[in-house]
Amino acid sequence: MTIHRLLRAIIIGAPGSGKGTISTRIVKDFDVKHLSSGDLLRKQVQEKTEYGIQAKRYMDTGQLVPDQLMLGLFMHELKALNDHSWLLDGFPRTVEQAVALYKSQDIEVVLNLRIPFEVIIDRIKGRWTHPGSGRIYHVDFNPPKVLFKDDITGEPLVQRDDDKEETVKARLEHYRRLTHPVLQYFSNKGLVEEFSGTESNEIWPHVHKALSKIVVPKQYTHYE
Ligand code: ATP
Ligand code: MG
Repeated sequence: MTIHRLLRAIIIGAPGSGKGTISTRIVKDFDVKHLSSGDLLRKQVQEKTEYGIQAKRYMDTGQLVPDQLMLGLFMHELKALNDHSWLLDGFPRTVEQAVALYKSQDIEVVLNLRIPFEVIIDRIKGRWTHPGSGRIYHVDFNPPKVLFKDDITGEPLVQRDDDKEETVKARLEHYRRLTHPVLQYFSNKGLVEEFSGTESNEIWPHVHKALSKIVVPKQYTHYE
């Protein structure tokens, strides 16, 4: 059995869903270029390109960068990857972006990581940080020796504003509102594969298996 297809995939998952972990594993096991919209944009900003100059003011205020700008940037990147496999992360984020992408590229699969919101909230809200060093603890999964104190300096730990339960809930709600129509659009095309679970280790073998049906992994890895 030989498979010659390219892997043209999109990964979708809420903040705290383990999307970064899964993407890293995909890149390790499959010959695919990972394009993260946030990383791409930050690079443009840093290099002060026309895209970067335009995008910066939206990013600075947490707003979405306009569709035309995002499309210009991604179409430009994808053109350079004509006979490569890719994994898009953070793009498309609006239906307009999805429609334009779908019209110009063959998409094989949209991976949707479905982690219950309660699990994500528990994961993030238990997180405490030592501001001086950036050391991160979790009250359940990685507790400090003394509660709310840094192991090394003994200084107090703080909870970042965006890790507080109310903020996390708001971010997740925002994500749901924004992403739902994009998923619906791809779902109508029969492209969405859902992966449900509470841990990356549990989800990963299923992702691996689904992608292996499209392209051959770099080296043979067996998961069951
Ligand atoms: P995450 O928590 O998943 O990292 P984020 O909100 O930090 O999400 P990034 O993906 O890191 O977002 O992107 C940073 C900023 O870049 C966003 O706040 C937004 O302004 C812009 N951006 C990224 N992707 C898109 C997109 N597809 N469309 C419009 N703007 C985007
Ligand atoms: Mg980010």
